Amino acid sequence: MQRKEIRSYRELELMNALGEALDREQLRLCYQPIYGASGRLRGFEALLRWDHADYGPVSPAEFVPLAEQSLQIVPIGEWVIHEACRMLHAANNKGLGILIMSVNVSTLQLQSPGFVETVLRILDSTNTPPQCLELEITEGIRIDSRGPIITNLCRLRDAGVRIALDDFGEGHTSFAYLRLLPLHTLKLDRSFIEHLCDSSRDRIMVESLITLIHRLGLEVVAEGIEDSGQLKLLQEWNCDFHQGYLLGMPLEGTGIGPHLLQSQLCASIAAWGCPEKS
Ligand code: C2E
Ligand code: MG
Ligand code: MG
Ligand code: MG
Repeated sequence: MQRKEIRSYRELELMNALGEALDREQLRLCYQPIYGASGRLRGFEALLRWDHADYGPVSPAEFVPLAEQSLQIVPIGEWVIHEACRMLHAANNKGLGILIMSVNVSTLQLQSPGFVETVLRILDSTNTPPQCLELEITEGIRIDSRGPIITNLCRLRDAGVRIALDDFGEGHTSFAYLRLLPLHTLKLDRSFIEHLCDSSRDRIMVESLITLIHRLGLEVVAEGIEDSGQLKLLQEWNCDFHQGYLLGMPLEGTGIGPHLLQSQLCASIAAWGCPEKS
């Protein structure tokens, strides 16, 4: 009982503070690299970080749901897309080549009025080709096939923006999302990857899912790869892209520079046994 009251107090405090977090410049993005099958850098996933004045770092797993409840996720999410596109432009200027920036968006943002126009305006003002932005959607609310979310996603897809389904397999309605959304990419949830080496059931499921996803014409990213045994299996099954602490931790923006091509090389040597031939 007491624990619940304390938790609610913290939640209330965090919700209040979130309203000012943007103005106070307490929010920043980290960027986790995503690699192609031969160790080539595909791009990054932008991950939101909040340093609260009193509480210190607060996890997005805790504050994103609060930002959704207070609708603060709409302005915060817009800032995230803008900041991530700016970083992508900077990365391209630093000689990292044409990369894809993956940005998490809440279904609340997708339903908010003017969302499509906002994204297109950001792409324009940051000189970002639409094909270089991927929006990651996580299962949240029930999606109506004739509702604004599908309409907005189709408009964005038609403009060239990539759409990914995040955390596939974590929730109860993943297959409904897979049927409804205009997707390019599917991200297999970490819970599938975690026990690959010791669960034959998980191995059968992941191998079959990769085949299914490919047959649907989509690309697959495996999330949460932490050891080389998992990577080896995913490689054998032709998983297209790989993400996880084994290959790269989320980096500060200042960590994105030409030396990443070196880490790319190191990652490919360590994980794939040989550097990618270019
Ligand atoms: P996500 O989109 O599924 O992001 C992947 C999460 O897994 C990140 O946690 C990342 O740091 C973590 N991760 C990556 N590789 C590994 C690994 O090998 N092992 C383990 N154990 N974890 C790994 P993070 O940054 O704490 O973010 C948590 C969630 O918060 C995200 O899950 C996403 O749903 C949400 N989130 C983060 N940034 C944003 C944002 O800008 N907007 C919205 N709407 N949600 C966000
Ligand atoms: Mg994500
Ligand atoms: Mg995910
Ligand atoms: Mg997640």
